[in-house]
Amino acid sequence: MSRVLELDNVVGGYGDTQILHGVSMHVDAGEIVVIIGPNGAGKSTAMKAVFGLLKLTGGDVLLDGKAITNTPPEKVVRYGVCYVPQTGNVFPSLSVQENLEMGAYVRDDDFTPRLQEIYEMFPPLYEKRSQAAGTLSGGQRQMVAMGKALMLEPKILLLDEPTAGLSPKFRGEIFETVKLINKSGTPILMVEQNAKQALGIATRGYVLVDGKNRFEGTGNELLNDPEVAEMFLGGGKQQVLLEKVAVAKPVTGKSAARKSPTGKPAAKKRSRKKSGA
Ligand code: ADP
Repeated sequence: MSRVLELDNVVGGYGDTQILHGVSMHVDAGEIVVIIGPNGAGKSTAMKAVFGLLKLTGGDVLLDGKAITNTPPEKVVRYGVCYVPQTGNVFPSLSVQENLEMGAYVRDDDFTPRLQEIYEMFPPLYEKRSQAAGTLSGGQRQMVAMGKALMLEPKILLLDEPTAGLSPKFRGEIFETVKLINKSGTPILMVEQNAKQALGIATRGYVLVDGKNRFEGTGNELLNDPEVAEMFLGGGKQQVLLEKVAVAKPVTGKSAARKSPTGKPAAKKRSRKKSGA
């Protein structure tokens, strides 16, 4: 699998406040990679770090093996990274089609065939192509935002909490849409609060806590890890779909892995052995 994106020990934040304290993660071709973790952990900040929206003071961001660290967003887009922020990601007064066309703003070739492909991927957008994006449901607005980003045929798509504020029904639709986009050949790095559902569609996932890597593994490994379930998936044993699935690999040392996100000891001591680390 070729490596599309890598964050290598990235350090940075806003002004003098350091938020990311050496975050490492990667996305390979064909993958959906999900970042989960508590509020304020630095998940969105890690994504903004890729898109050149904050100044990194350490580490590197690599696209196709080449450093793009601290490259401004307008250049990152041209290199093939598209970012869909959580809010303000469509022009509400413009029609669906105008939004998609705006997405192609850095293309100087004929983007009509791509527009057609987007409509084939998202039939509801074709039906509503003349309608103002602001009048669509939350789920369909997210579809417009993703379609807009895809107009550039990016090497990788970054999605910041695409299901935020959506009802369970629309959430499900968005996760299906993410799968569809991925199937069409676009690797995805996604921050999500709906951790369980997101891990359910993820090839791999990372758990960030306090601006550091805490756990990583395949979607299944994280879903089946008792500590991850208890701390981040909203429950204890009943969440754990235990078969003989390998447990997720804690990234930090033993004592760190036992702590809760607030630094307090986890409620129950577990007899499970750590894998690897
Ligand atoms: P998460 O996505 O994990 O919820 P964020 O990456 O959004 O966390 O935020 C991490 C920390 O950075 C938080 O303490 C937040 O208040 C702070 N932060 C986020 N955006 C900014 C900003 N633009 N300026 C200053 N601080 C910010």
